[in-house]
Amino acid sequence: MNEFSDKSVPPCPFPKLYPSLLAIDERYFMSMAFNQAIDAWNKGEVPIGAVVEYEGEIVARAHNCVETNKDPTAHAEILALTSAANAIGDWRMSGATMYVTKEPCPMCSGAMIMSRMSRVVYAVRDPKMGCLGGATDLNSLPRSNHRCIMEAGVMEEECRELLQAFFSIRRQGGNVD
Ligand SMILES: [Zn+2]
Repeated sequence: MNEFSDKSVPPCPFPKLYPSLLAIDERYFMSMAFNQAIDAWNKGEVPIGAVVEYEGEIVARAHNCVETNKDPTAHAEILALTSAANAIGDWRMSGATMYVTKEPCPMCSGAMIMSRMSRVVYAVRDPKMGCLGGATDLNSLPRSNHRCIMEAGVMEEECRELLQAFFSIRRQGGNVD
């Protein structure tokens, strides 16, 4: 298995997805974010993954690395954003789409707006900390002149199942064998 920092959580029981390359659609990009979330799980991280699409290509892939990097800002979206900016050669994400398996938190929602991300597509709504419609909506600050196009619920079931399984196993102390 991968480097496995948190011994209390067993390797991810969910298989990675290999969607057809004949249909590069939202499910395709979210599948790639889902696969990143599996990589996060296998490092003992909360399984959240993100990819950035620009001109039809994935220019960045990242997953939650808070524990590994010992960095509270190492969320999937922030790491993907920095990597995408390097790939595109511009901090402005105009024309880009962020696909992420869970609704962005206050920090990441803010980063979506500050980077002028054109579209944000997320799978699972987060009524507790989500700031793109779940708990509140930073995308509708009345005086802000940037609005992301938002879409929620793409592959929601799969991404929710992954998150719930992780928390459920961790609560049980990781004993599944
Ligand atoms: Zn975040």
